[in-house]
Amino acid sequence: MSADLEIPAYLEHALAGLRDASEVGPTLNGLLSAVRGLLSAESAYILRRQGNALALMAADPPSDTTVAPAAIADGGSEARAVTTGLTVIDRAARSPFVPRPELALVATPIIVRGETLGVLAATRPSLFVPSEVRWLRILAQVGGIALENARLLEAERRRARYGETVGALATIERVDVGPFCQRMAAVINDVMNADLTDVMLSRSSVPAATGRGATPAGDRSELIRLGEARREDVSIATGLESIDVMRGGAFAASYLTSAPYRCADARENPKAPAALRNVGIRSILAVPIPGDDLAQGLLIVASRQPSAFDADDAAFLRLIAERVGLLLRHAEVERERARTSARQEFLTVVSHELKTPVAVIKAYTEVLERRGEVARWADRDRQIVDRIQDQADRMLAMIEQLLDLQRLEAGRLTLDLSRFELGDLVRRSIEAIQATTTRHTFVTHVDEGVSVRADRRRMEEVLTNLLDNAVKYAPGGGSIAVELRRENSDSILLSVADQGIGIASEDIERVFDRFYQVGAGTFSRGHVGLGLGLYIVHEIIERHGGRVWVESSPGHGSTFFARLPVEAGVIDEVTDAA
Ligand code: ADP
Repeated sequence: MSADLEIPAYLEHALAGLRDASEVGPTLNGLLSAVRGLLSAESAYILRRQGNALALMAADPPSDTTVAPAAIADGGSEARAVTTGLTVIDRAARSPFVPRPELALVATPIIVRGETLGVLAATRPSLFVPSEVRWLRILAQVGGIALENARLLEAERRRARYGETVGALATIERVDVGPFCQRMAAVINDVMNADLTDVMLSRSSVPAATGRGATPAGDRSELIRLGEARREDVSIATGLESIDVMRGGAFAASYLTSAPYRCADARENPKAPAALRNVGIRSILAVPIPGDDLAQGLLIVASRQPSAFDADDAAFLRLIAERVGLLLRHAEVERERARTSARQEFLTVVSHELKTPVAVIKAYTEVLERRGEVARWADRDRQIVDRIQDQADRMLAMIEQLLDLQRLEAGRLTLDLSRFELGDLVRRSIEAIQATTTRHTFVTHVDEGVSVRADRRRMEEVLTNLLDNAVKYAPGGGSIAVELRRENSDSILLSVADQGIGIASEDIERVFDRFYQVGAGTFSRGHVGLGLGLYIVHEIIERHGGRVWVESSPGHGSTFFARLPVEAGVIDEVTDAA
């Protein structure tokens, strides 16, 4: 048997671990021993990306010391694999994770849907050669699925805990402000795995009974700490007993503007609140506690780890802040909302459960496809594998849509804003869709240099949905015109025009509704879908402060328009006012 045909056995072994999605360890161990075997490596290891750093996740042989995460900016062989997206072969390892610099090293990025999740690397005395890299890359794909599973699992567990917390809030009958804030601080600190949590209330919102709220209503000059929790092994003395709002700073700005504040690494941000930065805190998340009109306080969580809080955590804290705000006002209304939220948590967890088996199907079909190439299978057999893959992709897309729906309904779909060239994303999305059809021709016009501040992944979702529909609903083919134009200095206009079946005027208003499909149930439709795509497009664009609409003439085609502000109207990182 040739070496090529034997090798998938290693893969089978590594893939077998994926079936048990509840623990990621065994998969990674199988994967690493496959890497060592295939490359005759002395050691193999997986690094996971945590914000701007790489952290050791698993190693074979197991590493006995706990190596600290290394900043990507510090360079090194693995960091180069991340920044270039390419496999790096070094004669001498330049790596904080390899104690012996005389070893040769190979490192390949683990990329899932365009996002680099980590690095797979191996070392040995002799230099690695390019022909070996192919296997490392294939194994990195398996590693990608494992890392994503691990991430989903973590997120699920966290959501379940978050769900419980929200549920527990529903059982609070009477709110005694002082003890309530103290209890909230303890719960949030524990659930969010934070080092410190402070619940700050505006002095004028604190009932006089506590003896601390003696200022006139409407006075927003000072926040005082009513709840405080510290991790047991931490003694952090911050100067945060009170915040003088008039002196400015990130917390004051967050409170006054009702916009959350998030800092990924206070050590690198001189404007981060000094009271926390000076005591070794690195990540900070602060969320205003809403009042009837203006904010009535601030929830602050902090950690000594950098990048400890992601968008999900921010969304959770916002949910809690909303609940706390409501509880402080109307305990009864609150209980009902929390119950609904617990139900949604359950649905979310179930949808996540569906994802893993489909990802495993995909991984196995990739192995089959590879075998088909090596063994020169007949075209029709390879087409079958292609079809399985197509359908698995569709299932994943639908599960993703269901998850989005739940995030939207739970108010948890938050925007992760960054600046990027929208034109590049448009071109890339078109290329991806063009690969799926030969009957349609894309005609593209993109104004040069249209850079926006928006959620990149969500915008990609918008584009994919619109382009996908243009193909789906023009079954006869034809041209699809995609245009991205700058309207003025504040906004851009995206349009996708097809020559398909069009939409009757009575349906135009409703295509953006949840689950709406024209003619659903009246005739058999040639495609699968949930009627969620346009609803999600609509929500994403509106959350960016934009607008979507459609113009159509039945039988001739439809044009979908999206107008988007160049700067999305959500503040994530409040700049320091001081
Ligand atoms: P899905 O495509 O999954 O059914 P969508 O929310 O994306 O759901 O679309 C909702 C409905 O709007 C579709 O079922 C279809 O009837 C109609 N529609 C969407 N895009 C187009 C288009 N480009 N041309 C004609 N009809 C469309």
